[in-house]
Amino acid sequence: MYYKQYGDTNMKVSAVGMGCMRYDDADVKTGNLGKCAEVTLYAHKKGINYFDTAPFYCDDKSEIITGMALSQLPRDSYYVSSKTNMGTVGGKCTAEDFRRRLETTLARLKVDYLDFYHLWCILSLDSFARQCDALYGFFEQAKTEGLIRNIVFSSHMQGTELEDAVAGDLFKGMLIGYNALNYRFRQTGIKAAYEKGMGVVVMNPLGGGLIPNNPDTFSYLAEGTDLTVPQAALRFVASHKEITITLAGCTTKAHVDDACKAVENLAEKTAKEIYDEYENKGVALNNLCTGCAYCKHCPKEIDIPKFMDAYNEKLLGNTIHDRLKYHWHLSALLAAECIKCGKCEKLCTQHLPIMERLTEIAG
Ligand code: SF4
Ligand code: SF4
Repeated sequence: MYYKQYGDTNMKVSAVGMGCMRYDDADVKTGNLGKCAEVTLYAHKKGINYFDTAPFYCDDKSEIITGMALSQLPRDSYYVSSKTNMGTVGGKCTAEDFRRRLETTLARLKVDYLDFYHLWCILSLDSFARQCDALYGFFEQAKTEGLIRNIVFSSHMQGTELEDAVAGDLFKGMLIGYNALNYRFRQTGIKAAYEKGMGVVVMNPLGGGLIPNNPDTFSYLAEGTDLTVPQAALRFVASHKEITITLAGCTTKAHVDDACKAVENLAEKTAKEIYDEYENKGVALNNLCTGCAYCKHCPKEIDIPKFMDAYNEKLLGNTIHDRLKYHWHLSALLAAECIKCGKCEKLCTQHLPIMERLTEIAG
């Protein structure tokens, strides 16, 4: 296993962590939780020492399963993280609600403290400010009492917003979605966090299944290696110097093996070095729409993400118009409404040529 330093702490964490949100659905539903826990134990045996869970994952069983496994192991041989936000404490945000949620998590995980506790799923700077105001003091209090070691946050914001979020120096690390599809979208935030000495943990390294489901499109990631495309996609993320841990959602022991193989003899490079290398080889790392919806301010009310999603199909070797018609129930003619004001392209996190694509769709 390849280990990295978690930000400016003295913690050595495995370059891949286990995302504990993918326990086998059938086993979870039939109560065969011990079988799920075997996967966690196997991951630990293979050198993975970071386990990421949360309330509600896997029919709200993930923390329980993870606790079943981790309680069999020495406490100093792993790091465990969980999450909370105003939603999970019932929106009331009292100290008692926060404490009840935290104590439930600790009891389920069978630990006296969490290594990382996330302010969970922040979607905007407004929400970030509101939730920090409401909850950060409770996090600090729990830290003072030794119930949590590090206060971190998880977010789906884009790069410039993440830059603002980390500027306040409140958090030891952050968890964000990042992969070969959306690298432009979050890159500046990752760089800012790294430069601040924060740990950067990445979820969704396979682009929500889009990468493994389109191996031909993403074969460039595996070129010159003995890795499969999903393994190479994990390695792509893990090899960023700025990224500390890449979470792999593991349902089976084979998934654990894939994750471990992906970081064998890892060579760390800065994001710039990685992208320069691809650029020199003439690979456009991606030109797909990620569906982030930041462009949704069209004066003509064109539903741009849906049209760009349909255009993705063309890039993946399928047809635009089937997707528009049968999936989105939209007429291609609506694309002709575009007045080419350029607003959407300025907002597009992937810097896509939206106007050109709409013209093509309108035919
Ligand atoms: S360029 Fe076209 S699609 Fe983009 S915001 Fe303007 S009118 Fe809408
Ligand atoms: S077109 Fe750009 S901004 Fe709009 S959803 Fe796609 S990637 Fe996001």
